[in-house]
Amino acid sequence: MQSRPVTSAILLSLLFGAVSLSWSLLGLLFPFVVPYKAVYSPALLGEVTAHFLFGLAAGAATARLAPALLAGLEAVFIDSDHLMAAAGFAVDARLSHSVAFILLSSLLIARASRRSALASNSRAVMLVTLASFLTHLAYDIASGDGDFPLFFPLSVSFYNLPYLAWPVLEVGAVCLCLLARRSWDASAEAR
Ligand SMILES: [Zn+2]
Repeated sequence: MQSRPVTSAILLSLLFGAVSLSWSLLGLLFPFVVPYKAVYSPALLGEVTAHFLFGLAAGAATARLAPALLAGLEAVFIDSDHLMAAAGFAVDARLSHSVAFILLSSLLIARASRRSALASNSRAVMLVTLASFLTHLAYDIASGDGDFPLFFPLSVSFYNLPYLAWPVLEVGAVCLCLLARRSWDASAEAR
């Protein structure tokens, strides 16, 4: 096992979580959004594990350990946008579940990855981050909560994705990871 890429994947996913938390600070500008009622229960552990597995399953399509881990961990850490709300601020708890967040954060993580052991291919890292977001929504929908502020901060409205969107999103994530795999394979051959 190569430990450096794995360490990079862990650090990048922590950075992703920090970016998600920072993004949720934008919610302070929109305090009229319905406040969050934090629920702490053993179910939370199940949810974290399920998010990780949904991400890992799609990430496995890259046929590489570190990117698979990155997909799994990012799928968990995106939920650090809940922390502000859980701490009692009148901020919606799902502000990172939005298109603008994932586009900006995947570019940022791809950029940050250039300094990491996954440096060989920042485009592939971006694809994996996008995929991890899709798997996150997939599990949220599968577990019965498909309401997302998809166009935050342009709009604070929530959009409901239908239940059957979850397998579509998960398959979409697998496809993105297959693209990332091709990209990694191509850059490995070029060297
Ligand atoms: Zn979520």
